[in-house]
Amino acid sequence: MDMRAGSTPAENGQAAFREALIAAGLLIPTGVDGLYGRSGVFEDVVERFNDLITTWGSGDGADVMRFPPGVARHQFEQSGYLKSFPHLAGTVHAFKGDERAHQSLLRRLEEGEEWTDAQMATNVVLTPAACYPVYPTIAERGPLPADGALVDVYSYCFRHEPSLDPARMQMFRMREYVRVGTPEQVMEFRQSWVERGRALMESLALPVAVDLANDPFFGRAGRMLAASQRDQGLKFELLIPIASADQPTACLSFNYHQDHFGLLWDLRTPDGAVAHTACVGFGMERVALALFRHHGFDVKAWPAAVRAVLWG
Ligand code: ATP
Ligand code: ZN
Ligand code: MG
Repeated sequence: MDMRAGSTPAENGQAAFREALIAAGLLIPTGVDGLYGRSGVFEDVVERFNDLITTWGSGDGADVMRFPPGVARHQFEQSGYLKSFPHLAGTVHAFKGDERAHQSLLRRLEEGEEWTDAQMATNVVLTPAACYPVYPTIAERGPLPADGALVDVYSYCFRHEPSLDPARMQMFRMREYVRVGTPEQVMEFRQSWVERGRALMESLALPVAVDLANDPFFGRAGRMLAASQRDQGLKFELLIPIASADQPTACLSFNYHQDHFGLLWDLRTPDGAVAHTACVGFGMERVALALFRHHGFDVKAWPAAVRAVLWG
């Protein structure tokens, strides 16, 4: 088992669960921490859960948008992500050289030398959270209608946080509902999803707790941002024990950004005020892992009530 020196009991639990998932064929290792293939059974659970989210959210008439797992570089630069999370971002680089540069690339590869420093940045950045392409898209439309905007997005995301915890992947899927509007509209949306999210997860017979949380803002200034995010109650997470009982994992998050994205993208309500935004995010792999943890690796042996919710 891949247990590294100085591991805590929680980390050993994570590594053990990871090995078990790999042994069962649910996750397919690639040799890179946090980068996995998924089996057909795993994908079926993700797809059924995705449909369940749609069922719970469908009454609201969200505008469905699907983006590839890349954000336009100019939008990413404007989003402010690099101010808060430079340590998590992943940029797409590509070869742009001539034949000589190609020969040099092949030689360096052959000799085991560094070759990636010759790669040049493209205009694509890996999506860090599914909602990032939504704000500039809504901003393009001009002032919001009176009932604001509600968008349904689903995307693979990248975060550079390699880990032996199978619930902390570098590439994973996030389904989100994103609300843009007045502070009242946005707060009402978030509150309704805290309640719905809890009920949805309880319908899967999972042990859940909702708690205040903060984002991992970078650096010393970041610690202050995190503290103020907590003080203002801007982020809540729905936690489920996955690999460790005393360190439960965030499977859903409920985020109120106040006017952060509204100011960045000049999002306006009909009366000209800066719009507020909020989003609810579902970590698809984490929910699948929670189901495998609590109901076992054999989906046919899951409780009948849970099977009925997912497979009808
Ligand atoms: P954590 O505190 O565990 O790092 P987070 O606060 O960074 O989570 P969000 O930024 O709110 O998470 O992302 C929304 C959802 O995406 C999370 O609730 C979680 O379910 C999922 N998620 C976040 N990071 C990862 C990851 N590295 N691997 C798998 N799922 C993730
Ligand atoms: Zn979001
Ligand atoms: Mg995180």
